[in-house]
Amino acid sequence: MPHFTGPDGRIDIKSLELPEIEAALQGMGSERFRALQVYKWLWQRGVTSFDEMTNVAKPVRALLGERFYIPWLTTLAVQKSIDGTHKFLWQTEDGHRIESVLIPDDERMTLCVSTQVGCAMACSFCLTGDLGLRRNLRPSEIANQPLQVRQALEAQFRISNVVMMGMGEPLHNVDNLIPALRIYLDEQALNFSHRKITVSTVGLIPQMQKLADALPVNLAVSLNATTEEQRRQVMPITRKYSMMALLDACRDLPLPNMKRITFEYVMMAGFNDSMDDAARLAKLMRGIKSKVNLIPYNENPDREIRRPGDARVRQFQHYLVHHGIQASVRVTRGRDISAACGQLGKAPERSDVTPGEKVAVVRIRREGEGYDASFLPDP
Ligand code: SAH
Repeated sequence: MPHFTGPDGRIDIKSLELPEIEAALQGMGSERFRALQVYKWLWQRGVTSFDEMTNVAKPVRALLGERFYIPWLTTLAVQKSIDGTHKFLWQTEDGHRIESVLIPDDERMTLCVSTQVGCAMACSFCLTGDLGLRRNLRPSEIANQPLQVRQALEAQFRISNVVMMGMGEPLHNVDNLIPALRIYLDEQALNFSHRKITVSTVGLIPQMQKLADALPVNLAVSLNATTEEQRRQVMPITRKYSMMALLDACRDLPLPNMKRITFEYVMMAGFNDSMDDAARLAKLMRGIKSKVNLIPYNENPDREIRRPGDARVRQFQHYLVHHGIQASVRVTRGRDISAACGQLGKAPERSDVTPGEKVAVVRIRREGEGYDASFLPDP
């Protein structure tokens, strides 16, 4: 794989996997095992310079600094929602803006990570699609997001889950996503459990298979419709991979024990929220180890699309559950700071936390929120 380089031509060391760092160190006449030390400095300690790697010999540090550099995202702003959600706005080396969203709830602290600048999938309801695809993120940029959020958090807070649901289509960038995920999963690096990582996709079938072959992470598929025609209307990718081909691929995917595929279903009033849709959706799920996550549409000034009423969402969920489908409703979070699903890429310029200041995450529950959890019937 070609290396990624910085403005001065040096190689981005954080886009390399451990064996590549080993090879580089060997080439410099250093012992192979030093690579693990370097790797840990990069991913566990999060150092910003080779000089901080005090157990690496000085001449080796100097050589490393000549050939490599340690990339970093610049923190432009951290915005805080009234519900405790935090949006981190980053700038890449070449001046692009990307976002990560930290979502605390009762049991979890989920980080939603971006994988591309913009997105090429052009789903009609999603604002990120309006940007088009500017470029893929590098492995280092995908993996620096949780590392830098970790560093920004006050010590008592831990990221428990990661979802690849920020800007971009992760599987459209699968060749950088897989090395990045290896860094997430490596216990010498970010050390996340594969159970706590979810990759969400519009359904790029060959890349889904590639990912499943490479790594055991969770998969989420944005379905959003119950007929081919309906899905084609809002998700152009359906022209390339039909919904039926997608569902067949899901049925055949070699899933590790206990894993289920999550089907995300954005509910849009008058479009895909009828009880006929619920019935079709229940049928489509037959034979697939699945669970459905209903996402009531997040309205915005750029689209005419409306969110269905709570009663309809509940009725839809109820139908699914009574037909044997595990179904939950995603509570909208961070809408006041444009951090909710489908809103990324439209960042207003304000920061509630001074860059560099530690972030304390306090979950503030609002009246009437969270009906979904209390509603879920006993299994
Ligand atoms: N490209 C991947 C990763 C992005 S995940 C994917 O599509 O799965 C973003 C999720 O938010 C997707 O399930 C998408 O369907 C959903 N979404 C997009 N716009 C939305 C909106 N305005 N309201 C609610 N959900 C939305």
